[in-house]
Amino acid sequence: MNDSYRHKGMRRRLVDQLREKGIQDETILQAIGNIPRHFFLDRVFEETAYEDRAFPIGQNQTISQPYTVAYQTALLNIKKRDSVLEIGTGSGYQACVLAEIGARVFTVERNEHLHFFAKGMFEKLDYPRIRAYLRDGYKGLAEFAPFDKILVTAAAPYVPDALLAQLKSGGSLIIPVGKEQQIMTRITNVEGKGFVREELDIFRFVPFLKGIQKK
Ligand code: SAH
Repeated sequence: MNDSYRHKGMRRRLVDQLREKGIQDETILQAIGNIPRHFFLDRVFEETAYEDRAFPIGQNQTISQPYTVAYQTALLNIKKRDSVLEIGTGSGYQACVLAEIGARVFTVERNEHLHFFAKGMFEKLDYPRIRAYLRDGYKGLAEFAPFDKILVTAAAPYVPDALLAQLKSGGSLIIPVGKEQQIMTRITNVEGKGFVREELDIFRFVPFLKGIQKK
């Protein structure tokens, strides 16, 4: 697969749509404009890859909708060199968006097949600094904690204590919480005040499951 002028044109239209839907952060829009989303998908989706929707990536999982990626990224309020832990690497697309806007990215995935697929994408698209681990995200990534920001990209039945414990003071966790549908939740570790919770919009994610799934 190549990245042609036609793909770039489709990408520009996607960025315009995201702007119309309320995404304002130009660095995030630029990242989405730069990353060839069709590379993360099967060839059969080459013509539709830049529609603002989720697509299957195998293993019963999906690449998040671009609007959701932009929305979650905006909530993180990334400053250059922030350390960010992503739970649910999936295709690797969201991790590339985070790297593109200057975050130091750590990402964990429970599914071995997807973990290796995403690692291949980081190499192919030249993001050598994204660190990817095959782990159960309920436990976070203790050896690199604490993080400035933590992002969960799967539907969480509850907020795992381990993730709160791995947040720096002043840092925040973005996590969709709920069963059939989820409330996007931002929990900020406020100095002297503890964890402050904000509940935002409704989304639908694939489930946050326990344990590792080997090939
Ligand atoms: N961020 C991804 C979208 C991921 S979909 C992207 O940009 O493509 C959610 C992912 O979370 C799936 O790949 C799923 O396997 C993974 N997941 C679910 N439970 C998990 C857990 N306990 N630990 C790590 N990853 C998990």
